[in-house]
Amino acid sequence: MEKYSEIRVPIAHDNPSIKRKESRCVLCGKCKDVCAKQIGVAGYWKYDGNDIVCINCGQCANVCPVDSITEQDDTATLMDAINSGKKVVFILSPSVRVSLGEMFNMSAGELVTGKMVAALKKLGASYVFDTTFGADLTIMEEASELIERIKSGENLPQFTSCCPAWVKFVETFYPQFIPNLSTCRSPIGMMSSLLKHHFAKQQNINPADLYVVAITPCVAKKFEAKRSELTGEYGPNCNLVITVRELGKLIKQQKINFKTLKDEPFDTAYPTGSGAGVIFGASGGVMEAAVRTAYYLTTGNKPPENLLKFTALRGANNIKTAKVELLGKEIKLCAIFGTAAARTVLDKLKTKKYDFIEVMTCPNGCVGGGGQPKCSDTIATVTARANGLYGADEKMPLRLSYQNPQIIEAYKQFLDNPLSAAAKKYLHTTYQPRK
Ligand code: SF4
Repeated sequence: MEKYSEIRVPIAHDNPSIKRKESRCVLCGKCKDVCAKQIGVAGYWKYDGNDIVCINCGQCANVCPVDSITEQDDTATLMDAINSGKKVVFILSPSVRVSLGEMFNMSAGELVTGKMVAALKKLGASYVFDTTFGADLTIMEEASELIERIKSGENLPQFTSCCPAWVKFVETFYPQFIPNLSTCRSPIGMMSSLLKHHFAKQQNINPADLYVVAITPCVAKKFEAKRSELTGEYGPNCNLVITVRELGKLIKQQKINFKTLKDEPFDTAYPTGSGAGVIFGASGGVMEAAVRTAYYLTTGNKPPENLLKFTALRGANNIKTAKVELLGKEIKLCAIFGTAAARTVLDKLKTKKYDFIEVMTCPNGCVGGGGQPKCSDTIATVTARANGLYGADEKMPLRLSYQNPQIIEAYKQFLDNPLSAAAKKYLHTTYQPRK
């Protein structure tokens, strides 16, 4: 047990997400405070061998006032990959586009998608793709899975599974609920699997030479990318995870003038996603997007306006509830952020029933992720970032995953149908109880 564990969170030397610089620590205890009050891990310690299990969310790094705790820095590994001559493919998570600008004195919520693509091209990207395509696939699979479970009545409530810190939280503290987790991989998990097993072949690239880098708001994705369940025929599907903070630092190091960059579009060699994929970055967004598609899949009709702006699932309350009618039944929804808040819901599930529960670990979802630019006014900043995503969704001509022609084509060409054998192989996963 580490010396100061009464005061601060212990960090194992091999933690893939975060590290501590000992000489900087002032023993203020803010890391343990956030871990106890928002994450619900400190105080409920579980051990894996000698080390305390960390769910890798990185909220302790976000609140550390002296940068003693930081993300694991993988920027040198990225530059080595670029310089090695491999084909480096970047995939960009939804919430990165509304926060990277803050690293360059731009406002929270300002959309910088085009500048980000331009910066990555200058860094040496072979391709830059939008992870919202992966998010659309997640919606197709997860909405179909929800419908199956509602029909059979099994393993309800369904839990979302795109937040790796939440998945590890369930595996560690509530293994009895593992069957409730959706078996869907995260959008990055789906997208990187398809890049290695489909895109590489389509482009005549040896998959071993394709180096997939996810740009994310999330340090827990550094842990997710190393999960053995997400290793494919050619090794890890996602080779490296770089956070917004790391990318901002790298752009500065390379002396790229971010603010003056001319917008560049995503590469068109691979599909892009819909507005439903964009709102994944905000708490309630995964559920809202999945409900839009579940409504269509069960009625054959376009969702009504109130489901295209599902206000009960939006905003900075950490537990939001709503109802929707699907298959002639009233389906009870609950969107949560903060795994401490999730504990309170899970502990009462026997008496307070839900059918579908979304949990994101970070404040207001990935917009408040552990790899996002640090901010002093967390609620105002994450709200501005979330509003940036909702605004982007409203402006998109395509707002429904099932209408995305490239999603339709992907199923036609190689995935057959949602929940087919091919979809299960490349887009779904399994979980394991942890000590
Ligand atoms: Fe990562 Fe988002 Fe989960 Fe935070 S909420 S741990 S950023 S996936």
